[in-house]
Amino acid sequence: MKNEKIPYKIYLEESEMPKNWYNVRADMKKKPAPLLNPGTGKPMTAEELGVVFCDELVQQELDDTTPFIEIPEEIRNFYKMYRPSPLVRAYCLEEKLGTPAKIYYKFEGNNTSGSHKLNSAIAQAYYAKKQGLKGVTTETGAGQWGTALSMACSYFGLDCKVFMVKCSYEQKPFRREVMRTYGAEVTPSPSETTNIGKKILAEHPGTTGSLGCAISEAVEVAVGTEGYRYVLGSVLNQVLLHQSVIGLETKAALDKYNIKPDIIIGCAGGGSNLGGLIAPFMGEKLRGEADYRIIAVEPASCPSLTRGVYAYDFCDTGMVCPLAKMYTLGSDFIPSPNHAGGLRYHGMSSTLSELYDQKLMEATSVVQTEVFEAAEQFARVEGILPAPESSHAIRVAIDEALKCKETGEEKTIVFGLTGTGYFDMVAYEKFHDGKMTDYIPSDEDLKLARAKLPKVK
Ligand SMILES: *Cc1c(COP(=O)(O)O)cnc(C)c1O
Repeated sequence: MKNEKIPYKIYLEESEMPKNWYNVRADMKKKPAPLLNPGTGKPMTAEELGVVFCDELVQQELDDTTPFIEIPEEIRNFYKMYRPSPLVRAYCLEEKLGTPAKIYYKFEGNNTSGSHKLNSAIAQAYYAKKQGLKGVTTETGAGQWGTALSMACSYFGLDCKVFMVKCSYEQKPFRREVMRTYGAEVTPSPSETTNIGKKILAEHPGTTGSLGCAISEAVEVAVGTEGYRYVLGSVLNQVLLHQSVIGLETKAALDKYNIKPDIIIGCAGGGSNLGGLIAPFMGEKLRGEADYRIIAVEPASCPSLTRGVYAYDFCDTGMVCPLAKMYTLGSDFIPSPNHAGGLRYHGMSSTLSELYDQKLMEATSVVQTEVFEAAEQFARVEGILPAPESSHAIRVAIDEALKCKETGEEKTIVFGLTGTGYFDMVAYEKFHDGKMTDYIPSDEDLKLARAKLPKVK
């Protein structure tokens, strides 16, 4: 195959699509730390987690030994409607940059929700339906997860209650309407409809909300409503497991042409797309079969891996969720309001945190004006209008490709293009009008947010 030209888009046949998800924890010698019960300080049992989450998802959450978990046929059939997603060779970008590097991106924006989040939403809705539940609750920040979950719930005939971070609710009315088109009930958070929402509003009147607040409200409603459970769009092990479909397809496509990546890059909010993209590559790395440079890219305004601490922390502001050991900025951390594009969770998936702590992957942070510069450059040559979140990965992919231009190295770079940015035009507008600023929290800001970390032995 050596001289065969690599097509612009590498697709897989339906028959080549993954039939199993890959659970990278199975290959980790030192496992991610377990979720703890904040009351007892002991690892959460399946029974305790079952109050909040669907039973089968609890099993997946706790399973750190089974490497392959079958994707149920119903989910595979749904995947076939919008997958496999293309792996694109960025010939046009390479030419524009004048780099000898070979750049590929895995594009997850080809579905109505516009991002990779549908990969896990459909799985979580499936297991909720299978358990005979009436509906699910969740939070959404920028709105992609809420949209994906609304689509998945309407497919399986489940109710869907979404708490949407207030500033996004106001800034992104069209996102909200997409969710309502799919039958979801959307409430701006913090709201007066929950005890925790009322408490947060009393303490911080006028707050524009945060993911941490919205999670607390969604969990409160799930636990207090018969036939409901809570679902989460990132951070959890189960979500990384479902997202492994991204990495498995990427690897299958690369293997078809004997391509071996040198560098794999993804943006990191809660860690689900990156965890999914890198899963099979990290597996090879853990088993000593191959080596890759893996880079997580986060916003300089919400730098959990690069400037956080590795500690047990609350997953939400209301402290109703289990404690997770992760790289965290503290559950009180709310990125500055001028931070435009997603990736605003205070912590990082415990699986990725552990891999990062073991130095199996790197992390870097980038400021938003440079992210939007990269987004625009990419849009103009590759045709896709990228989500601001995805553009963090574009930024670093371009930077790495430019380094290759200096050194003359022909590295192969693969990055995750997680979604489209059609609902982010307010942020693009700010950028075009020269009104976008970069905010980097001071050490003092970070120290303050960290002061409330729970005490765990
Ligand atoms: C949610 C989202 C992200 C970040 O979430 P992760 O869990 O870190 O993957 C990145 N890109 C897009 C388009 C998103 O919707």
